[in-house]
Amino acid sequence: MLGNIVVISAPSGAGKTTICDAIIKSDKNILRSVSYTTREPRKGEKNSRDYFFVKETEFKQMLKSKKFVEFAKVHNNYYATSKDFLNKTLRSGKTILLEIDVQGALKIKKQYPQSCMIFIMTKNLKVLKQRLISRNKDSIETINMRIKNAKKEIQYLERYDYLVINANLEEVIDSVKTIIKSLKYKIIKN
Ligand code: 5GP
Repeated sequence: MLGNIVVISAPSGAGKTTICDAIIKSDKNILRSVSYTTREPRKGEKNSRDYFFVKETEFKQMLKSKKFVEFAKVHNNYYATSKDFLNKTLRSGKTILLEIDVQGALKIKKQYPQSCMIFIMTKNLKVLKQRLISRNKDSIETINMRIKNAKKEIQYLERYDYLVINANLEEVIDSVKTIIKSLKYKIIKN
């Protein structure tokens, strides 16, 4: 039996990476899709663990050779999901977790309609802004841009299957785990 695709999207600052890390750690049958990106690595990020960091020329070459199942330009950088890794994981019967933006998520859903689409959000935009301010990583201009993007992303909520509000980290992790576990019982429709 083929594995499942789980897509997780969230506005910047909603806690997506922490949640995904916990999910991956909790179950060896869930594999994270490591994306390709043209953005520079941030402090502490490791090539091939967080992303495959590539130059734009290499990215475009890979795009031309149809190595990606989807790609998108987010905040002026390119991001893409490896087609090979996705197909291999599906064939192995494992679950692949894609932590990608809304544009990419919609492209995946179109190609793989059975994908489980999860949107993570804070209680409201005010809380999101507060989280971005308190993590102390971005300027106020960047924070305002992220909030503006979040407003755009929320408009696509109805294209997702689940909305999980990140109010309490343990609870949200449990909720996402429950959603993923339930996929085992899903009836596949052709
Ligand atoms: P960051 O640069 O902060 O790690 O990610 C910026 C945005 O790009 C996030 O919304 C993240 O989910 C998204 N992203 C990461 N990898 C991919 C990918 O392979 N495809 C798409 N479409 N978006 C991605």
